[in-house]
Amino acid sequence: MTIHPQPIIGIVSPCYNEEEILYETSKQLQILLSQLIEKNIISDKSFIAFVDDGSHDKTWTIINELATKNNLVKGLKLAGNVGHQNALLGGLLTFNDDADALISIDADLQDDISVIEEMIVKYTEGTDVVYGVRKQRTTDTFFKRNTALLFYRMMKIMKVNILYNHADFRLCSSRVIKALSQFNEVNLFLRGIIPSIGFKNDVVYYDRLERMAGESKYPLKKMLTFAWNGITSFSTFPLKIVTRIGVIIFICCLFMSVYALYSLSMGNTVPGWVSTVLPMYFLGGIQLLCIGIAGEYIGKIYAEVKQRPRYIIDKRVD
Ligand code: UDP
Ligand code: MG
Repeated sequence: MTIHPQPIIGIVSPCYNEEEILYETSKQLQILLSQLIEKNIISDKSFIAFVDDGSHDKTWTIINELATKNNLVKGLKLAGNVGHQNALLGGLLTFNDDADALISIDADLQDDISVIEEMIVKYTEGTDVVYGVRKQRTTDTFFKRNTALLFYRMMKIMKVNILYNHADFRLCSSRVIKALSQFNEVNLFLRGIIPSIGFKNDVVYYDRLERMAGESKYPLKKMLTFAWNGITSFSTFPLKIVTRIGVIIFICCLFMSVYALYSLSMGNTVPGWVSTVLPMYFLGGIQLLCIGIAGEYIGKIYAEVKQRPRYIIDKRVD
């Protein structure tokens, strides 16, 4: 049953130093959109929007050129580099007024664009969020694959509600994006926020492809920050673990002191050094860990309280 016939679809792609890839990405997406327009699946007002996340290379020059030459392409330039999540948010909120639904996709086309049609069909049938889910990631490096696996495991243990093997390749209807605009958090973790919004959702499966050119903009340090952000923005589980560790250690200490008193009363004087110094170090360590984790959350509160803008728009071309 078609609820939204021939919708206006916008494909939003954040780009950070993607000069090597942009022409190809734009070409492939334009071919896809033209085919869908021809088949009367989507409106001819549909578009591709590239968001330049403060790149240092020719990314903006290329976006500008593509947008001026081609009426399927729009461009948005952010004033500085705000990171993948915020750049994507900037694109989604800016272009939501021009479309019925927006599809987010990485500029490197590692996500298989051939499932976009399936996503759109699901939207026309009344689904608000369609998640792209990777079937396998054999094309990723061993390192990327395993760190990603670890990432999803950690999220599960930490009780963060995200979809397994779903990155930021998804379709959201404009009312989902409108709902998203009400989430004012600075530490943005879209993979956690969007499932928490609700509405009818579905998934499409695809194979993860290789990056066409250029390098991953997610080095290990950024990946760790991303995972840590995901956990601390969505879960207080680390704080709970710390409390539990505290309780367990406290109980162990009770037993230890009972044993020490007993040994003392029996006249077995304890040589003493190990049993005094080791627990001191141990507890000191645990205390520091607890303070550190609590501090991370306080840091998050600090960032949220300031309510700074998450992105600043420099210019737009249509
Ligand atoms: N990206 C961005 N800002 C950044 C880092 C990355 O907009 O600070 C974009 C990048 O251009 C790409 C997407 O986010 O379109 C995903 O990045 P990448 O492909 O490097 O990540 P990976 O696929 O390796 O996880
Ligand atoms: Mg990539």
